[in-house]
Amino acid sequence: MKILVAGAGPAGLYFSYLAKRQHPGWQIRVVEQNPADSTFGFGVVFSDRALEFLREDDAEIYERITPQMEMWTDLVVAHRGTPVRIDGIGFAAIGRLKFLQLLQRQLASVGIAPEYNRTLAKKEELLGYALVVAADGVNSFVRRAHGDAFGTSVRNLTNKFGWFGTTRRFETLTQTFVENEDGSFNAHHYRHAPAMSTFVVECDARTWERAGFASMNEAETLKHCETVFAQTLGGHRLVSNKSVWRNFPNLRNARWSSGNVVLIGDALRTAHFSIGSGTRLAMEDAIALAKALGTEADIDKALKSFEAARRPIVEKLVAAADASAQWYERFAEHMRLAPRDFAWSYRERLRQVAPKFVGEN
Ligand SMILES: Cc1cc2nc3c(=O)[nH]c(=O)nc-3n(C[C@H](O)[C@H](O)[C@H](O)COP(=O)(O)OP(=O)(O)OC[C@H]3O[C@@H](n4cnc5c(N)ncnc54)[C@H](O)[C@@H]3O)c2cc1C
Repeated sequence: MKILVAGAGPAGLYFSYLAKRQHPGWQIRVVEQNPADSTFGFGVVFSDRALEFLREDDAEIYERITPQMEMWTDLVVAHRGTPVRIDGIGFAAIGRLKFLQLLQRQLASVGIAPEYNRTLAKKEELLGYALVVAADGVNSFVRRAHGDAFGTSVRNLTNKFGWFGTTRRFETLTQTFVENEDGSFNAHHYRHAPAMSTFVVECDARTWERAGFASMNEAETLKHCETVFAQTLGGHRLVSNKSVWRNFPNLRNARWSSGNVVLIGDALRTAHFSIGSGTRLAMEDAIALAKALGTEADIDKALKSFEAARRPIVEKLVAAADASAQWYERFAEHMRLAPRDFAWSYRERLRQVAPKFVGEN
């Protein structure tokens, strides 16, 4: 079978590896617009539970990845300078590039070398394959090339965020909330390497306007954020990696496939970064799609069975991500609470939709 995989992010790399491992005779072509050693953002974090899927499905890759990760157990919510510890959750983080390089190595072990620095830009390039896997992220060209075949909807959240890094090492995943004359800011920060941390800055639209970010260049933006979070950063600098301000897009698709084209990962749906599950979802999609193709020779039936197996699980996680995003959309209001009540409100934001996330399983 001839397969085109668009995008060499976590979804595309992992799907291609699994499919080729199961079916050495399949011809799988992976096309990626960026160089092999470049990516956006800094680290990604997984909860302990989020890694369990990998241990169950692919012990080999789990054993390769986990020793490279930074691990800790608690989460800290810091408000008005008071840290409140929420214990017993368990997290593991890794640099996004390092993670991709591990997946690239796995893919090389089954004989596939993605074509880097090559952008899919014409619909004709998608012809001539038995299957086209759109793993090309939230702005998927493959999805857009098919008009409204997938019933796509995108709703941008109102908060602004920037995905930065810093050399300051944080011992746990910390959510720091600060207020100044412009309004309210939040940083999600955690180490993803021994001497490097991820630092995602978020604020509401009004705060963003008042701070004047619209007219700042990259260096000015970094400096301003360093000032806002001076106490948290303790003299360390922020670093940028294509770190532009964005509104998080909540992307959904009514249909997961159309003809021989199937969406996986962020091309299929996004999950707000505050629950740290986008990469996990992308990899679980890859596992489910490879399994469906392995048990059903007819492409149409395999794609339907992929969706039938995955949709209920994805919908639960997406509901949790949406609930979490809604809490963040109103974090300035929650900041009226005293630090302990505020931390409780933070913990409660997922209870209705995702009790396992807050430790009630
Ligand atoms: C601020 C922020 C923090 C996050 N933190 C976490 C976290 O802590 N934990 C977590 O699990 N997830 C996190 N995520 C989500 C995670 O980054 C995504 O869910 C994940 O990367 C999705 O993987 P993917 O392979 O589907 O898409 P991507 O990683 O976006 O990969 C898509 C690939 O396709 C390529 N591509 C795009 N268009 C084309 C084209 N036309 N031709 C060729 N190639 C193309 C891109 O260059 C890219 O390499 C975060 C996201 C954000 C925004």
